[in-house]
Amino acid sequence: MRVLLVGGGGREHALALGLADDPSVEVLVAAPGNPGIASVAELREVDTGDPAAVAALAVELRADLVVIGPEAPLVAGVADAVRAKGIAAFGPSAEAARLEGSKAFAKEIMTAAGVPTARAYTCVDAQSAAEALDDFGPPYVVKNDGLAAGKGVVVTDDRAIALEHARECGRVVIEEYLAGPEVSLFVVTDGEAALPLLPAQDFKRVGDGDTGPNTGGMGAYAPLPWAPPDLVDEVMADVVHPTLAQMRRRGTPFAGLLYVGLALTAVGPRVIEFNARFGDPETQVVLALLETPLAGLLHAAATGTLAAHPPLRWRDGAAVTVVVAAEGYPAKPRTGDVITGADRAGVIHAGTRRDADGTLRSAGGRVLCGTATGTDLAAARDAAYALVRGIELAGAHHRSDIAVAAVAGQIALPD
Ligand code: AMP
Repeated sequence: MRVLLVGGGGREHALALGLADDPSVEVLVAAPGNPGIASVAELREVDTGDPAAVAALAVELRADLVVIGPEAPLVAGVADAVRAKGIAAFGPSAEAARLEGSKAFAKEIMTAAGVPTARAYTCVDAQSAAEALDDFGPPYVVKNDGLAAGKGVVVTDDRAIALEHARECGRVVIEEYLAGPEVSLFVVTDGEAALPLLPAQDFKRVGDGDTGPNTGGMGAYAPLPWAPPDLVDEVMADVVHPTLAQMRRRGTPFAGLLYVGLALTAVGPRVIEFNARFGDPETQVVLALLETPLAGLLHAAATGTLAAHPPLRWRDGAAVTVVVAAEGYPAKPRTGDVITGADRAGVIHAGTRRDADGTLRSAGGRVLCGTATGTDLAAARDAAYALVRGIELAGAHHRSDIAVAAVAGQIALPD
């Protein structure tokens, strides 16, 4: 198989490692890729937000499969443009990607499908926002309606901050606060058949103990030793299949990766959000444990043949990833700093670039992820932190509590 991978972050590095490992992949090209991906794929330049340009590159490469990593190209219609050339694309159409591109649309689908989620209002002015906030009370949850790279959500006890976020965003979804541990469940689907991957947990806040502002994600681990054994079956039955059926009913079937972000509340799992692509950094840990060849799986989803795909196989043990972020992230990350110690197996590149002389430099807020597997969560965590300790980047910071509560058995499900 000749595969084109679109994107250049940590998620795409993890996808590239999985694709390169699949014996059916003869050629792997990443556009634009990154210095980490360069060790397993040929890199090409492309404007990933330009559907015609990506489709033209897929044609030039005679690709059998195009895997689209980030949300922005999906919302822009890259998958549609690739499919219009008769090439299989892993990723939803622009219309189906609205499940991620608009929080209000996602709520509408969930309501129509009877999917358990937080009660919510869509608000476009200060008065309706104030009324919604007062209906729910603190903690307040205010979400930018559009794409915000995982940073458009404010959760706060301060009503003034909540109102200010609503004013800045213009159109927001204000919803009830969901209390309980969070789970990310990735589901590979061709629009009808659906295969869940292992549930994972990520760490959204920048600081230890879930303090400070939300980020794109500071670390992750899988599997979840504390999750109820029937969780995945329940979410497939109550969330995934009704949502996929609702999308089909509207003539916009969702094929690709449905990311279900859940809170396990006292009254059961509730959807926090849908994404239309693999989550970053959970992908790093989930794919580290997937034994089933990745390209074959994504190709089956992209060609409507997932029902005939064999059951997924998983490696024993656990995986942990710890994000190394640039100084100033998330507010104002500094870039351009020299990195050493990153050229090791398990170090995933998220925001790096390489100078002509070979020097590696930071090029984004989340710079690298130390990713490791182990016989159990404690071993995987120790190995991931050993990788992080070997990385030198001036001003960098990382969380020191990734998977710590899970290892200690301290994650409690609400009664
Ligand atoms: P989202 O972009 O919707 O995933 O939101 C980012 C983060 O904000 C989530 O991972 C949660 O930690 C938090 N969050 C979002 N919605 C809620 C909610 N209704 N209740 C509690 N926390 C939430």
